[in-house]
Amino acid sequence: MPEKVVIIGSGPAGWTAAIYAARANLDPLVFEGAVSEENRQSGTLPLGQLALTTEVENFPGFPAGDLSGFLKSSLDEGHHYLADMHEKNGVSGPELMHLMRKQATNFGTRVVTDDIVEVDFGQRPFKLKSAGTDGEARQVEAQSVIIATGASANYLGLESEERFKNKGVSACAVCDGALPRFRNKPLVVVGGGDSAVEEADYLSKYASTVYLVHRRDKLRASRIMADRAKKNKKIDILWNTEVKEVLGDDDKGLTGVLLESTTGEPDREVEATGMFLAIGHTPNTGFLKGSLEMNDKGYLKWTVPFRTNTSVEGVFAAGDVSDDYYRQACTAAGTGCMAALDAERWLAGQDIIEEAVAGSYSNIGSEG
Ligand code: NAP
Repeated sequence: MPEKVVIIGSGPAGWTAAIYAARANLDPLVFEGAVSEENRQSGTLPLGQLALTTEVENFPGFPAGDLSGFLKSSLDEGHHYLADMHEKNGVSGPELMHLMRKQATNFGTRVVTDDIVEVDFGQRPFKLKSAGTDGEARQVEAQSVIIATGASANYLGLESEERFKNKGVSACAVCDGALPRFRNKPLVVVGGGDSAVEEADYLSKYASTVYLVHRRDKLRASRIMADRAKKNKKIDILWNTEVKEVLGDDDKGLTGVLLESTTGEPDREVEATGMFLAIGHTPNTGFLKGSLEMNDKGYLKWTVPFRTNTSVEGVFAAGDVSDDYYRQACTAAGTGCMAALDAERWLAGQDIIEEAVAGSYSNIGSEG
């Protein structure tokens, strides 16, 4: 029997879709991604980008506080180490993701720890193939599919940058900016778009100075954002400049960057305790090999306004893989919920499930 719904991806969008699909008796199957060195390097391990962050201060429902008792009571014994390591500052990214995963499995979601590497949306039921990284290459048939594979932050690709990831190099100011190592210290933000300005502006609350390193003489950011950067006295824009090397040592982590001019000026070093990348994201859609419509940046297109439908009927997209604008954990969770409801309604419309199942919509009134 084909699966009613297969969910690919395991960030906030994937787990929220699974929670809703499971509660609608769709018996969802989640491919959460493989635990492999390749995925570690590309930032695509199970549980998504949040699993790579520390405190999450902006996911509603988790104010600062000691969650260790709650973590112990809600997670399986295998994850009690999270409670033991808990920092008492509210929820961390990995904690939040394990809680979401647990909530989905509590309602009967089945999980495969592997990547989907091939899809065939040209026939029904759809056909999906997994990599077999977990020891079993699977061929799965699915009546509907929710794609929630997220996006990965782009890095410069320097070896020295890799060395100082989590020791000063970050691609998420909102996640990491408030950490002690970045407070009242000079920081570097790389990029010239809205994200770079937003990150620089955000970090200027904590930093002594923020060097905005941009490779051209004009920001790509919208005028209002560019003006904000120029007006902020703590932001020093270094025009026509690129990062050549990240400097530091194992003890202190990142201590500065070596900058290279694009207009022939001599290289120079700048002291900093952090370097934040804001040079764009790449959606994780390679495995789809162009089988769904994407926008010019490669993000999956929603083909019906305010619905998660893609260009293939029965395939839905949620979270960062279809969002190059908001990219927040709570917006991803929201669109994951939408995708599950859209899939449920679509399956009912195809008579694949009984209409009564779509009655779980009544939950919207009482719980949604
Ligand atoms: P973006 O607009 O694509 O800008 C990326 C920036 O990174 C560009 O300035 C680019 O330089 C630079 N860059 C790319 N690769 C680089 C490399 N290898 N080395 C050095 N610099 C590099 O991306 P974004 O800022 O993430 O914005 C994405 C979308 O979200 C945009 O549509 C944006 O408007 C929107 N957004 C809006 C807001 C807001 O309105 N508050 C906030 C965030 C994002 P070049 O300029 O030379 O190409």
